[in-house]
Amino acid sequence: MKRVELIPIFEDNYVFVIIDESNHSAVVVDPGEAAAVIEFLERSQLSLKAILLTHHHSDHIGGLTELLEFQAAPVYAPLKNKNSIRNANYVQQGDVLDLESFHFQVISLPGHTRGHVAYWSPDRKWLFSGDVLFGLGCGRLFEGTYEEAFESLNKIKALPPETLVYCAHEYTEENLNFCKLLTRLDNSPITGDDEDLVLYENELLGKRELNLPSVPLKLGIEMKVNPFLLAKDVEQFRYLRDLRNKQ
Ligand SMILES: [Zn+2]
Repeated sequence: MKRVELIPIFEDNYVFVIIDESNHSAVVVDPGEAAAVIEFLERSQLSLKAILLTHHHSDHIGGLTELLEFQAAPVYAPLKNKNSIRNANYVQQGDVLDLESFHFQVISLPGHTRGHVAYWSPDRKWLFSGDVLFGLGCGRLFEGTYEEAFESLNKIKALPPETLVYCAHEYTEENLNFCKLLTRLDNSPITGDDEDLVLYENELLGKRELNLPSVPLKLGIEMKVNPFLLAKDVEQFRYLRDLRNKQ
């Protein structure tokens, strides 16, 4: 039996702990901070099998050294981040990770950063996607081009609709306001179904009222309402990203 635990850190980041209950082992994704993760591993008596990193931003790797001091484990990081993340096993598009009972495929998703990767679990249909896609939004383009980011979203869209997207920030409510703004624009090129957005909003606000995360996202639902996934071409994507940056 496998499950994913979300550990909130900082303002709005999540660290993910993928747990195999059958042998009390765990894989940690993007430990931006170590203390909360160590506390969780200790309390749950889990042994650390591996650490997966999606990209080199400090809110995703900041706890790495301290976590490794607590328990040594192999680290997997994007090949293009070789200079900023030392002593890792470097991965790129198409690589397959077989970490005992955990299996992942690596998908390169440039845009937010050049080297950004996601870890896809085909048997569970879980995607650990860092800062590429968010609830009703997408990551800012710090290093990549609009074309790269648009292509990366297309790669995610090609995954099965039942995919659960474990994105690394709780930004969904903030992005909902952007979606509402879009629906009010006369010349908005993005026309998702208003009814789908109302359903999404009700579910989201219900969860957030109870202090529950909006993550994981359901890809099939996200594809109906997330304007960045509804963008038909790179020009529409550029328009949306630029408009979102001004908010
Ligand atoms: Zn980032």
